[in-house]
Formats: sequence, structure tokens, C-alpha cells
Amino acid sequence: MAFLKLLARNRLALAGLIVIGMVVVLALITPLLPLADPDVTDTPNRFKPPFSEGAILGTDHLGRDLLSRLMWGTRLSLAMGLAAAIIAATIGSAIGIIAGYYGGRTDNIIMRGVDMLMAFPYILLALAIVAALGPGLMNALIAVAAVNVPFFARNIRGITVGIAHKEFVDAARLAGMRDREIIVAEVLPNVLPVIVIAMSTTVGWMILETAGLSFLGLGSQPPQADLGSMLGEARSALITNPHTSIVPGAMILIIVMAINLLGDGVRDALDPRLKSGALSRPMPATTVDRQGAVPAAKTESLLDIAGLRTEFRVRDRLYKAVSGVDLHVEKGECLGIIGESGSGKSVTALSVMGLVASPPGVITGGAVHFDGKEIIGAPYEVLRSLRGRRVAYIFQDPLATLHPLYKVGDQLIEAIQSHDSVSSADARSRAIGLLKSVRIPNAESRIESYPYEMSGGMRQRVGIAMALANNPDVIIADEPTTALDVTVQAQILSVLSDLRRERGLAIIFITHDFGVVGQLCDRVAVMYAGQIVEEGPTAAVLRNPQHPYTSRLIDCVPTLGGGQRKLSAIPGLPPVVDNLPVGCAFAERCDKAHADCRAGPVELVKTEEARKTRCLFPEVVSERSA
Ligand code: ADP
Ligand code: MG
Repeated sequence: MAFLKLLARNRLALAGLIVIGMVVVLALITPLLPLADPDVTDTPNRFKPPFSEGAILGTDHLGRDLLSRLMWGTRLSLAMGLAAAIIAATIGSAIGIIAGYYGGRTDNIIMRGVDMLMAFPYILLALAIVAALGPGLMNALIAVAAVNVPFFARNIRGITVGIAHKEFVDAARLAGMRDREIIVAEVLPNVLPVIVIAMSTTVGWMILETAGLSFLGLGSQPPQADLGSMLGEARSALITNPHTSIVPGAMILIIVMAINLLGDGVRDALDPRLKSGALSRPMPATTVDRQGAVPAAKTESLLDIAGLRTEFRVRDRLYKAVSGVDLHVEKGECLGIIGESGSGKSVTALSVMGLVASPPGVITGGAVHFDGKEIIGAPYEVLRSLRGRRVAYIFQDPLATLHPLYKVGDQLIEAIQSHDSVSSADARSRAIGLLKSVRIPNAESRIESYPYEMSGGMRQRVGIAMALANNPDVIIADEPTTALDVTVQAQILSVLSDLRRERGLAIIFITHDFGVVGQLCDRVAVMYAGQIVEEGPTAAVLRNPQHPYTSRLIDCVPTLGGGQRKLSAIPGLPPVVDNLPVGCAFAERCDKAHADCRAGPVELVKTEEARKTRCLFPEVVSERSA
């Protein structure tokens, strides 16, 4: 099972699992072991030291066998802790789910009650409950469970509130499901991992708390042993006969440590966000593990990418996201990279500045020359000085790139000051200038806005302004208009196009829309399954696409006033890059595919002046007309 595998990879959690597993097994088989009776007193033999005849851990103040008491006491403490955790989790989660799901007044009444319980220090509350119910094992259990209910209720309510407003719950409601069914079928499965996580991280606490009550004489009653009462009884002999305290103390330490380590491991393995590799903190720059020689730059351009290979190593799979990409962009030029989603455009772009998350990303080959210098595998300081200052990025979703809690002006100022030590006043006036240059009206007052106060188009302009903050030479725009509607898209494209002319910016524009490429780009490179399949001047490629994939992509663009042309979609799906065919990756979906296409790798060859195509049967003749 994936969960167990993940857990086993966490060494500490595994150690915790093994230790707690052994303790549990010992506790389970205690009645079968040939142990002395834990409750039989033998006062002549009191305080025997460990390793004495007949008592391997010694005896306590009444001459009872410590080993036997330890085993029986551990059994009792574990059972108490677990029972308390299960009771608290069940009641607390039920309260939390009901409060979170129904909301409004129900929520208010329940949660104020929970708050009242939470207002007391919980040990005091537990003491008060036991005092009211009277000392005893059962009552200690109830007290510990009760003081932990609010913890679960609060946690689970928070999660449930988030889920209760999700679309799938609305959908279930629209489908006519009753509240009870929705809670069981839709909400519970989503909060269950959280309940398990909360339990696994609190069992240790509950064992400590029950032991604490027993220590004070409010839990297990003599002669019955649990770890807390053993410690309590040993207190008076702490100095003279420390072994009587050390034995149960060490056991508590071992149990609680093991459970907490295991609990952390369970949490990490169950949390879906951590499962995707977020647990491993990404490095500041992509790992470089280049096999073979570093290729020389193929051109003298400002930015030259040669033979770039980037892979993702995810457990036993290898995703070849980018396999041997050559690209270059001149000063002031706009290069379009186009391809379906998953073709490796973003990974190519991120690899340039070492921004692919590692792990799992690894750059395994190729070179990137910026301004003549090779930067793949350059020290982090070099990359950092280039990022933002020489090469800047614009991403697809400005709402996700802008910090929601800071004013856009402050974010711009921060971007400026991270590379330039200018005074805040200067940075501020530069920020206003930037907003003006991306044609944001009322820049002086807009600088005080929060991202959520702006429309999508305005936010993306701020995104562009951020990219411009340090006067970069190259801007890499990764689908910057995909989240915007067409009219706003046109405005953003015209802003970018003006900026390019005014500042001599080089732009790498990533998109999946040939219409956008046609408006903005001088040259275009078509990507498929991590490779460039066609490259050339935009006008020429649009007029005469040579690779079948390119023509299919162009056919996907609707034209206004183009008559009743049938829009065509490309049949099939792009291949998954962990299992690429040996031959042409597009052959599966290509109506011209031939046995030769599948036989072996197809090279990217020059077909015309400034044009290259990776196809055995390119359509070179310009016969295509609208
Ligand atoms: P796009 O062309 O849509 O920008 P990407 O460059 O984001 O595509 O992704 C290219 C391929 O890289 C995807 O098909 C995916 O299989 C793989 N990939 C991207 N990120 C990861 C990751 N974190 N782990 C594994 N594979 C990934
Ligand atoms: Mg992408």
C-alpha cells in the first residue's frame, strides 16, 4: 500500500512504529508470560535492586516484582490512552462535523460551549471532573477524554466548514441527498484522514494525562498498577531507590516518544499535500545531474538553450518532461512556445533559471547560455542575481502569484528593493512608474490596492509590472493570458508588445493558442512530448505548417468571419512522458503515420531557410491556402 511505503521511507516514524509495535505486542501477551503476580506484596524483599535473584528489574517498596508491575502497568496505560483517544475523537469529531456542516446558530451554540470547556486549563478541568466523579480508573478515563473533546471538535469543525461549501457538496444536495447521507458519504471521507492524524498525534498526550491523574492518586487505585501510579508510589523513594521511579519513567518516555514519532509519520504520509513530494523541501535551485559533455551554445543569442533535458524522478517512475530542447531568443525578439498542456513548455521555461522544484526535478543534460555565460549548475548566488534582474517570469494566475495580504505597491517595492538598495520613497515612485508603464489608470491610488480589489486583467498587469521591476533583458511569460477573457487578453498582449518595442525586451511567450502567437511572436517553436517538433518564423509556420501536429494545432483556432469552417480537435491524448515511444511521439495521433515513423527517433532537420521540422514526411510545399 502506498501509505505504508511512504511511512516506511520516514526512518524516525519507522523506528517509532517498531518500538511501539513491540510494546503493544508485549502488552498483549503479558497474561501469557510467566511473570510473578504483580500485586503480591513481599515486604522482607522490598527495594531489591535490579538484576537481583528472581526480580530482574528489582522490587518496589512493598516487595512487588517491578518487571511484572511494569508489564501490567504498561498494558493498562496503553489501553487507557487509546480508549481516551478513541472516545475523544469520536465525540469531538461528531460535534465538529455537525457544527461545521450546519453552521449558523447550531454552530454558534455548539462552539461557544466548546469554547467554555477550552477556557479552563485542561489539567485543572480533568482534576475537577475526577473530583466530581470520584477517583478511579473509569472516571480518569472519562476526564481525559472529556478534556480532549474540544481539541477534536475545533479541528474538525474548521475542516468541515471548508468542505461544506465545496461544489461537490452542493452537487450532492442538488442530487437530492439528505443531510445525513451527505455527512456520511461526502464529508466524513474527507475529514477522516484529519481525524486519524489528530488522533495519532494526541494518543501520546492522553497516555501522559491518564498517567498524570494516576500519579496524583486519582486514576488507578492500589494495588492495581499503571505507569502513573507506579511513578506516584515511587516518589517517596526517588532518592534512596531511584530504580523504582526510573523503570516506569523510562517506559513512559519510550512509549510517548515512539507514538509521537509514529504520529508525525502518519500525518506526513496521510496528508495529500505532503504526498506529492511537498514534504521534501525544494532546493533553492534545480538539481543538476548532467551526463555527458556540456554542449556549446548553438547561437550567439542573448539566451541560448542547447540540448536541455529535464526529468522528474518520482519514486520508481521517470518522467522525461523535456528531452533535448534547443531554443534561442535574440534581444528584442519574441519567441512563442506552443503546445498542448503537458508538452513540457513550463518545465522548459522554469529550467532556464533553475526554478524546477527539486526533488523531484533534475536537469540531466544540456546548457543554457545567457549573455554568453553558461548558467545551468551555476552557483545559487549567480542564479539569484540573474533571477528577476536579467530574466523575469510572468505566470498564468496572478491571483496565485500575488500575496493576498499585501498591497500591490508594497509587493512591487519589495521586488525592486530585493535587487536594488534604493530608498523606500524612490522605490515607491518607481513602482508608480511601473504601474503606469503597464497602463494601469490612477497608478498613484492603485498602488494602495490589495490584489483582490483588482480585476483579473489589472492583476495580470501588476504581474507584468513585477516582472519589469528590475529592468530585465528577458521576460518569460508562461500562459499569462490563459486565465483572462479575450478582450482583456488583447489588452495584455498589446501592453507586452509595446514594452518590447520601448525597452528592447526579449520575450519568451508560452501559450497553447496559435491566435496569440500570430499576434505577438516573431518566431514560434512547437513542442510535443518534451521536444521541439517544428520551429520557424511565425508567418511562415502559419502559412505552411510542416509538421502534422502544427497543422492540427492551427486548425483548432476558430477564425471570425471564416465561414462555416468545421473546427477540428486533435484525436487522442498526448503521451504520458514516463513511457515515450521510441519513434515519433505524435505517430499515434497522426493520420500520415508510417511504419518508419515508429521505428526510431526522428531528428529535427532544417527544411527551409530558418525552419526546422521533426517529421519524416514534412509538408514542405507551400500549397496550403485558407
Ligand atoms: P505544459 O506544457 O503544460 O506547461 P509542463 O511543462 O508543466 O507542461 O509539464 C510537462 C510534463 O512534465 C507533464 O506531462 C508532467 O508529466 C511532467 N511533470 C511536470 N511537473 C511534474 C512533477 N512535479 N512531477 C512529475 N512530473 C511532472
Ligand atoms: Mg504550463
